[in-house]
Amino acid sequence: MWARLTREIEACRKCPLGAQRTHAVVYRGSLAPRVVFIGEAPGAEEDRQGVPFVGRSGRVLDGAVAELGLSEEEFGVLNVLKCRPPENRFDRAAARTCRPYLDRQLALLRPEVVVTLGARALTALEPTAPAMLAVAGRPWAGGGIPHFPLIHPAAALRSRRMSERWHDDLRALGRWLATRPGC
Ligand code: URA
Repeated sequence: MWARLTREIEACRKCPLGAQRTHAVVYRGSLAPRVVFIGEAPGAEEDRQGVPFVGRSGRVLDGAVAELGLSEEEFGVLNVLKCRPPENRFDRAAARTCRPYLDRQLALLRPEVVVTLGARALTALEPTAPAMLAVAGRPWAGGGIPHFPLIHPAAALRSRRMSERWHDDLRALGRWLATRPGC
């Protein structure tokens, strides 16, 4: 099932981004994860390698995973958009077209928890969520898979203030995960 979905995404031409990509960027990580991190869209390096979060933001995310003490079997990483948008400009129409892939990935992976990274991923999952900075760093009380929003790792690279916010919220995520059975 997972392999078939991966092939489907890799062959997808449902929106114009499909014609412009080098690689579709589907997933990296465990196929039985406790935690799935959801980013926005592949950047240049991800497009080149076909793997999510392998550029600068990826290094921040990998640091976070290490800080949380998650093993390779415990987490996975994916994006709302599977193909890189030109100039890294998030494409809402493409996100609507791509959405069923995200839903199918989550239905197959069945993580205990999802962690959205940044406002685009947050609103893709929770369209009614208030502004990112108002909700990041605590569990989101919606239905479905328990959800903990974080700011985007790229934001943590932009200023000392946002870096502090990233690390504070990460510690809050660690405390929350520790209260959850199985995490
Ligand atoms: N790389 C990704 O794969 N996703 C992002 O959201 C940012 C960088």
